[in-house]
Amino acid sequence: MEHESDDRTDGIETGTSYFGVRDRRHVERDLDRFVESGLNAVLHTFSEADQEYYQDTMAEIVDASHERGLTVYVNPWSVGRVFGGEAFSEFIGRHPQQCQVMSTGDRVGAACFNAPRFREFMREWTRDAAELGADVLFWDEPHWYIPAWHDQQDQFPDDAWSCRCTHCRTAYRERFDEPMPVAHTERVERFREQSLLSFLNEMMAVANEMGTQNAVCLLPSEDSDHGLRNWSDLAENPLLDVLATDPYWLIHADGSPTEFVGYFADTVVSLAQTHDLDSQIWIQGFRLDGGSDTTDAVRATTRTAIDSGVDSVFMWGYDACRSISSIACEEPDAVWSAYLEELP
Ligand SMILES: [Zn+2]
Repeated sequence: MEHESDDRTDGIETGTSYFGVRDRRHVERDLDRFVESGLNAVLHTFSEADQEYYQDTMAEIVDASHERGLTVYVNPWSVGRVFGGEAFSEFIGRHPQQCQVMSTGDRVGAACFNAPRFREFMREWTRDAAELGADVLFWDEPHWYIPAWHDQQDQFPDDAWSCRCTHCRTAYRERFDEPMPVAHTERVERFREQSLLSFLNEMMAVANEMGTQNAVCLLPSEDSDHGLRNWSDLAENPLLDVLATDPYWLIHADGSPTEFVGYFADTVVSLAQTHDLDSQIWIQGFRLDGGSDTTDAVRATTRTAIDSGVDSVFMWGYDACRSISSIACEEPDAVWSAYLEELP
């Protein structure tokens, strides 16, 4: 970001996500070493639990980040279970009627983008997140429910999709003047994409009114199961400031990590130029094996993103997720160092 960057890294924003520590004294030690390593931005996760119990603490953490010259991003960590993250959602437990319904009729543990109380809840989250003092709200991996992500591959047939809740069926009928089909049709695809865009637009407008910038991070997959088929539909939104994607190669790529990262880096750079946005790439820093092949890939993908001309590079997450055992890298310190050393 231009507005607060110290340009310590040749004008490229370099950052990491940060989570799991809510004691300011401990956080400050980590922030200090990020700055010493040359980073100029940080993303603080702001989960439903943070919103409920740690608001003033989080505001202090944002302040401590600003005091060190860091640009601060804040994201809805797993809020409603429709964004990325390793956190639970109380909202979905309290409001089952606001959750998504699969085409099979099964209700699943993720809020619906069209559910009015979820939108209201997210508007409140957005105001709270902006009031922490965040420079940028980071709308991370907004997606409809993906059964394969929740170890339920066998629960639903391959062609099952979401969402056919009462809110979606009503909105679909109003829009197309016909009942919402059970089959996954082109109109259903369009409806899902338009619903996601409408949700993001509503939240980005709240952030924008509060003087906070908006970044949207799309999953590296151009389809409506993971987000959007045509990313221009989002990039053209005047409320958007940063177009990001997270091409985590070990999870999503079939072939070469650098080709995969390069393709998506070129995609966000090109769209950002067309629509006067900043572009951002996230480097995988979790679930990686040990060994030199892995650190070589971390270096190569970081270099690829930078050489593609992106405005911002981040790693998910700090210390290669050493503190989250379910997704930690096998040799986190080596991965983290490889990322930091490859930055300009
Ligand atoms: Zn729905």
